[in-house]
Amino acid sequence: DSFMKLNLSRPLLRACEALGYSKPTPIQAACIPLALTGRDICGSAITGSGKTAAFALPTLERLLYRPKRMQAIRVLILTPTRELAVQVHSMIEKLAQFTDIRCCLVVGGLSTKVQEAALRSMPDIVVATPGRMIDHLRNSLSVDLDDLAVLILDEADRLLELGFSAEIDELVSLCPKRRQTMLFSATMTEEVDELIKLSLTKPVRLSA
Ligand code: AMP
Repeated sequence: DSFMKLNLSRPLLRACEALGYSKPTPIQAACIPLALTGRDICGSAITGSGKTAAFALPTLERLLYRPKRMQAIRVLILTPTRELAVQVHSMIEKLAQFTDIRCCLVVGGLSTKVQEAALRSMPDIVVATPGRMIDHLRNSLSVDLDDLAVLILDEADRLLELGFSAEIDELVSLCPKRRQTMLFSATMTEEVDELIKLSLTKPVRLSA
């Protein structure tokens, strides 16, 4: 098993090689082919399993074939903490290094003005904490999720533990109904199951 077999484009294979990834982790081998078909996915996966690349690689693959002049946020990745958002953003920048896909970070503690400018420049991917993302959507006329193709909820159990349930519901309601949604969680609690029912359509369940 190698990344070559996963139907990823050359710029993404080059990035995996540059990062020293020789073969997919189990969650990547399971998630990438399914995600490429456009199915919704919920995965039990902990940090260290390679879950970030498991959702990032098929998402980047999808963006490589986006209509050329589409200027809109196409992917939103929600994380429970600023630290995780920073890590996910940095991973995506590395995986996208041989493409022209742009990713921006929207988290508390960074200047709202700077983030507003970054969002206005229409990145393809936004990695955000829920509260800060909602602030931007409420306060800006130029930022919306109308053309979103992929929504990713990372560490869903922690998102809920930290009390982001209402924010997530609001963000999900602002996304188009026709979209791909992927949810990852270390634990599958009742609350996570409710969120799955609310935000995913006929998801495939994966664990690693
Ligand atoms: P994650 O579980 O997404 O937080 O990733 C944990 C660590 O594993 C990160 O440092 C990744 O760079 C690394 N990693 C992800 N996929 C692979 C792979 N296929 N081979 C080797 N390392 C990987």
